[in-house]
Amino acid sequence: MCAVNIVDSSFIQSLQAILSPERVLTLLEDIVPYSFDGTAALKQRPGAVVFPLTAVEVAECVRLARKHSVPVVTRGSGTGLSGGSVPLDGCLVICLVKMDKLIEVDEKNLTLRAQSGVITKEIDDAAAKVGLFYPPDPGSMKISTIGGNVAENSGGLRGLKYGVTRDYVMGIEVVLPDGTLTFLGNKCVKDVAGYSMKDLFIGSEGTLGIITEVILKVLPRPKARKTMLALYDSMDAAAKTISAIIAAKIIPCTLEFLDRVTVQCVEDYAKIGLPTDVEALVLMETDGHPVVVEEEAAQMMELARANGARDVRAAADEAEGAKLAAARRNAFSALARVRPTTILEDVTVPRSELATMVAFIDSVAKKHKLQIGTFGHLGDGNLHPTFLTNERDHEEMHRIEVALEEIVEETIRLGGTVTGEHGVGLAKKAFLKRQLGEGSYELMRSIKQALDPQGLLNPGKIFDLRN
Ligand SMILES: Cc1cc2nc3c(=O)[nH]c(=O)nc-3n(C[C@H](O)[C@H](O)[C@H](O)COP(=O)(O)OP(=O)(O)OC[C@H]3O[C@@H](n4cnc5c(N)ncnc54)[C@H](O)[C@@H]3O)c2cc1C
Repeated sequence: MCAVNIVDSSFIQSLQAILSPERVLTLLEDIVPYSFDGTAALKQRPGAVVFPLTAVEVAECVRLARKHSVPVVTRGSGTGLSGGSVPLDGCLVICLVKMDKLIEVDEKNLTLRAQSGVITKEIDDAAAKVGLFYPPDPGSMKISTIGGNVAENSGGLRGLKYGVTRDYVMGIEVVLPDGTLTFLGNKCVKDVAGYSMKDLFIGSEGTLGIITEVILKVLPRPKARKTMLALYDSMDAAAKTISAIIAAKIIPCTLEFLDRVTVQCVEDYAKIGLPTDVEALVLMETDGHPVVVEEEAAQMMELARANGARDVRAAADEAEGAKLAAARRNAFSALARVRPTTILEDVTVPRSELATMVAFIDSVAKKHKLQIGTFGHLGDGNLHPTFLTNERDHEEMHRIEVALEEIVEETIRLGGTVTGEHGVGLAKKAFLKRQLGEGSYELMRSIKQALDPQGLLNPGKIFDLRN
């Protein structure tokens, strides 16, 4: 297993020779910003941070780290919410944000090729220029990298209709733990030549390889989109609307939800004109052919009213739609203003159990006297109960730990998962075995052991390594 080394001067000089001195950071004031990601209360200082420009440079850095037994933590923009890119003390951080070349938009094959450091929104913007569409839209899409999205298999607001990042990855270039550079996948719509190796690396959280380039599937851009908001006096009525929409065989691109605490924070922050006494707000969006969009939107509004919505609003145009959608897109930022520390959870349950889970979270908040705002992807069963706290208040942090245990237990009891999109990293590591059971947990560890016996890449994330 890789020793945790404080990097020495010969190691730093070799890094500078591979890259160039200005792309190697070692001074305290320079490396502090790379000591944490978007996850609350997790910090650790790296020994050095490097910024390669090419896959060959990444491979050379990995080979050097291997030679010196220095663990490597790969980093995109550091927006992760499970501690995946939090460094190990004294490790090497390979940050890919300067590998930001959009290589090709291939209109004949409906694919897009990019280096891993390209920002997610720039991928969709490039597709949009030629009438194409890259659907996965994590809330962080203006800052996250496509490499980070692939490593976390990120979801987004359009996941219900369009799926998650994995559904769009056709190929990846990857640097393996021994420094080998290889390409997995291609532009073919069908390919069953051997194991689907690329799929092993999607969602592997930087523990199996460093993704340096991606080929993504893109779609024709939908011609029309309609955005609506429905406001409810009870969570149950909101959940019934969702079931009714799905039962009516409508698959909207977005069905998002905010609870009372979150609506109040969003209104306070963004001044959208939302009533602050509602129990639930549901954001609904449909896209596609203009005639179908109008028909589905009318049906969804009708179903919302029939199932008890107090008020249903439809945006007149795209600009107003973006304003309504801002209620959901601003949820995390709005909650983060309330207290010094925001702990965002990611539990996911089968859709039929949503109302039960939301009520349970509410009861846990009351029982432990905690402030929890819940929002999430109602159509996917993916909830983000968000604890508003102060990490310096140890007594309250302890109550959060107990509350989280209870939420996780209930999630597993309902047949859910401890993470729907943010990954395991450090934050969910303690719960993984409980959810998976011994067999699949050990299978995962065997894969890590086979690909990275030295434990070089992101050791201690997802699970502890075998001795
Ligand atoms: C405001 C906000 C909203 C968010 N909304 C969503 C959302 O809607 N849906 C969602 O799924 N997530 C969301 N996230 C979480 C986060 O943005 C995603 O996990 C994102 O994919 C991380 O990208 P990143 O470039 O910041 O990666 P980082 O945080 O730097 O890294 C994440 C993980 O991937 C690994 N990694 C990064 N790049 C590579 C690479 N090239 N090769 C191998 N491993 C790599 C890292 O080691 C780490 O384990 C949100 C975060 C914030 C702060």
